[in-house]
Amino acid sequence: MMKYNLHTHTARCNHATGTDREYVEAAITAGMKVLGFTDHCPQFFPDRDYYSYFRMFPEQAHEYVSSVRALQKEYAADIRLLLGFETEYYPETYDRFAEFAAQLGLDYMIMGQHFVGNEYDEGSYYAADGARGERFLTQYVDQVKEGLEKGVFTYIAHPDIVWYKGKNSFYDEKMTELCLFARERGIPLEYNILGHINKRSYPEPRFWKIAAATGNSVVLGYDAHSPEALLQTKPYEECLQKLNALGLKPMRFEDIRLVKPAFGEVGA
Ligand SMILES: [Zn+2]
Ligand SMILES: [Zn+2]
Repeated sequence: MMKYNLHTHTARCNHATGTDREYVEAAITAGMKVLGFTDHCPQFFPDRDYYSYFRMFPEQAHEYVSSVRALQKEYAADIRLLLGFETEYYPETYDRFAEFAAQLGLDYMIMGQHFVGNEYDEGSYYAADGARGERFLTQYVDQVKEGLEKGVFTYIAHPDIVWYKGKNSFYDEKMTELCLFARERGIPLEYNILGHINKRSYPEPRFWKIAAATGNSVVLGYDAHSPEALLQTKPYEECLQKLNALGLKPMRFEDIRLVKPAFGEVGA
């Protein structure tokens, strides 16, 4: 199968290392034919005192775009590069984000819903930070579904990032709801290799059993925060085995429907 990765960060997010070029060279060395950059997108918070330091700042976005586009031309003979964002769906800030992102000409976006809520405001939680109960799981699923309705996401990164403690039957019910919603819209789910490497609360075996039963399409994503991560074959193989054991097979790149974000009337 042709190797590819559609989940790649850059140093702009302040928690990744390496130059853009090093990611491209590593991908080529790893034998990949497609590499998609999806750094953590900038967000525009109404609270001027709040700035997230784990994503690029708005003023870095244009340089990000020109850097990836320049590499795309330079390396065209060796690898296909794509330009994207990993994006949270925050109901309160989405319009402002969309207006900004519409000018950037992105090839695609993946949804990475690290927060429930709008991140800056009270009542927001980092989804993988401590187990929470039913109300929180419901909020997470509702927020992801609402975000997917925008029609701008190619796939869901680590859909199982939410860390839940409570009745199994409730988890099964809510995650089946999410998996069905994604399947009906032809939106693949990402099995996150970084989570596997770092032994995070995801990939969550219970979730993937549900996804297998629902018949979701699956993408393996490195979620690379360093160029070297793209060279690691062992974790990739381990994740592949886990999927295979459930009867799941990662999609071929050719079968993935890349959604070019149109952002509707916003920003027009
Ligand atoms: Zn990150
Ligand atoms: Zn990521």
